[in-house]
Amino acid sequence: MALTISQKCKNIQPSVTLAIDSRAKQLRNMGLDVIGFGAGEPDFDTPKYIKDAARDALDAGMTKYTPVAGTIELRTEIQEKLLRDNNLDYELTDIIVSTGAKQSLFNALSAIIDPGDEVLLPSPCWVSYPEMVQMAGGVPVMVKGDENNGFLVSAETLEKYVTDKTKALIINSPNNPNGSVYTRDMLEKIARLAIEKRFYVISDEIYEKLIYDGEKHVSIASLSDAIKAQTIVINGVSKSYAMTGWRIGYAAGPKPVIRAMTSFQSHTTSNPNSIAQHAAAVALTNGERFMHESHTEFDARRKLMHSLLNAIPGLSAAMPKGAFYMMLNISGMIGKSLNDRVIKGSDDFAEMLLESKLVAVVPARAFGDDRYVRLSYATSREKISVGIMRIAEFVKECK
Ligand code: PMP
Ligand code: GLU
Repeated sequence: MALTISQKCKNIQPSVTLAIDSRAKQLRNMGLDVIGFGAGEPDFDTPKYIKDAARDALDAGMTKYTPVAGTIELRTEIQEKLLRDNNLDYELTDIIVSTGAKQSLFNALSAIIDPGDEVLLPSPCWVSYPEMVQMAGGVPVMVKGDENNGFLVSAETLEKYVTDKTKALIINSPNNPNGSVYTRDMLEKIARLAIEKRFYVISDEIYEKLIYDGEKHVSIASLSDAIKAQTIVINGVSKSYAMTGWRIGYAAGPKPVIRAMTSFQSHTTSNPNSIAQHAAAVALTNGERFMHESHTEFDARRKLMHSLLNAIPGLSAAMPKGAFYMMLNISGMIGKSLNDRVIKGSDDFAEMLLESKLVAVVPARAFGDDRYVRLSYATSREKISVGIMRIAEFVKECK
């Protein structure tokens, strides 16, 4: 037998968001003054009360295996959170905790996808969705959003892509990469379609708390018992509590799906980290103050980044309603060049900007639209001002 890499893994593209983040961190470690608008990671430290909880967990000896689906303590907090914030009533056995929302998503797809099953992905979408669908044996079906409506995808548009192989739809609201938020009305129509055509909805609500201008987050699962019965809600503590490195995410959904996800997890990673589980439980109980403060700061950064970007001739960015990302339209830069290199698409723009001005952004080709780059405003206002000044210089120098 040849010592080859499996077909499945050969086709996987490494995560561009994580690759750019690690390149920016590497350059920074070399002493270079890099401004990172790359990965979506809050720059705040994890709040002290959460770190204290982790110390308490260690002191109390919470260092052993926990139930595969997570501790009763954490699942109870999640159960209360889903009821309090989302009007969703789940039993503890309808909830599973995993090593980040990323693993929750992969477990969910693995639990429902058979080879060849199609998964509808409103696009542009987060880089990991199409790869995860393929890793689970499915076929990603990209459904382009309406650019004039924040890239949202309506039920009418989705319906055109539904086939007898459609197994699921992934809805991500507030959205990565474009910051759009689905309205209740749009979700009601999507729910009706999902019920009629009988496909699952995976509702990725990781940016739920990062929502602005009075917009309201609606979980599609909360719209009726019928849609709840075929929806898997995904959430986690990474973004809301500045806990990206702790790796705690969770899913709630129909019992057979959660049971399958638990069996799957029992043979892959077992329970998520025991200490992080206790810290996440405490985060969910006492998080309101931290979330209020960070929300105010993110909102100020959003407005600052939006006004500075739109002041650069030739570039434009729509005002996002949620998450902490902004899509910068760079179509006006295509065909221009700097030092004999031509900008042919978002990869060139991002690479040239990083090399010449030490500013990291994510090429939106990775999200399915080459006319944009994505900027994360999960960084200080000072860095936003300096970074965007450098982008303005870069644009001026490109001829
Ligand atoms: N969903 C989306 C849309 C994301 O942007 C992220 C970011 N990492 C995740 C899920 C996963 O979050 P985590 O694994 O850190 O909980
Ligand atoms: N989700 C974040 C992003 O899109 C973090 C990196 C990742 O997991 O992709 O930048």
